[in-house]
Amino acid sequence: MDPILAVGSVAFDSIKTPFGEAAHVVGGSATFFSVAASFFTDVRMVGVVGEDFGDDEMRVFAGRRIDLEGLERVPGETFRWKGEYGFDLNSRETIYTRLNAFEGFQPKIPERYRASPLVFLGNIQPTLQADVLDQVRAPRLVAADTMNLWIEHARADLERVLRRVDVLIINDSEARELAGHPNLVRAAQRIQAMGPRILVIKRGEHGVLMTRPDDGGFFAAPAMPLDTVFDPTGAGDTFAGGFVGSLAASGELTDAAFRRATIYGSALASFSVEDFGLNRLLTLSRGEIDARMAEFKRLTHFDVR
Ligand code: AMP
Repeated sequence: MDPILAVGSVAFDSIKTPFGEAAHVVGGSATFFSVAASFFTDVRMVGVVGEDFGDDEMRVFAGRRIDLEGLERVPGETFRWKGEYGFDLNSRETIYTRLNAFEGFQPKIPERYRASPLVFLGNIQPTLQADVLDQVRAPRLVAADTMNLWIEHARADLERVLRRVDVLIINDSEARELAGHPNLVRAAQRIQAMGPRILVIKRGEHGVLMTRPDDGGFFAAPAMPLDTVFDPTGAGDTFAGGFVGSLAASGELTDAAFRRATIYGSALASFSVEDFGLNRLLTLSRGEIDARMAEFKRLTHFDVR
């Protein structure tokens, strides 16, 4: 089972949805990713927290296959983010982003992480994502996420990183913005020309589209229809954790493995949205994941006569 090196934010999130609010809860792209991927394989986490990230907060990582040697602690406060969702949960406004511990952060990849076969670059400044790639030795697969903030304000840096990325996992509005084209098929082609051979476009409650050049087309996964959706925060990173985690566990980078990874990602994300922040992932079991994979199979299976 291949280990994954994951870099990204570890955060205190404040979240407001039509169903309630959660203030100052543990979140961050590396956190959601690592907790999700640790159901499948060992995760080596790289990130930074401040002095306010205490033993209580560290408990979200305890008892999981998450190696914390790469999690630095610096003076000052942890990264903070606040988001507010609209009525249908598809639109989200960032109320604030406070970099705090991320200001002046230089990722230092521990020596024993450097030969990690799989690397996940979570959503952080593209220059920091590049710093990580400069320190690793010939990974088999580099997957990355990004967001509108960096597409708009750090585009040149982002384009430099994308040339070194195999799999880009982004949402549909970001794909359109990055490609400068409203049609998702055309947008995918333009993004593939920027570097990432494999593109995963997340479409919220409408599911996911995955495209690979060897496959010649798209693979589509629906989102699980759920009667309780409380909080989409972290669903994207959780998807990425299930996706890369399942690839690591299978040890294969075949067409079948990428298709299965897309469904594992969707299954993990479908749990994440059922409660605020990380709550649902923290009580999740492997048996529940397997049961939801079977539900996905039923949801999408049909016969052609
Ligand atoms: P998602 O809902 O998948 O987009 O991820 C939400 C997570 O991303 C939250 O837990 C935030 O802490 C984190 N996040 C939001 N903005 C940023 C940013 N600019 N840099 C790093 N992490 C961020």
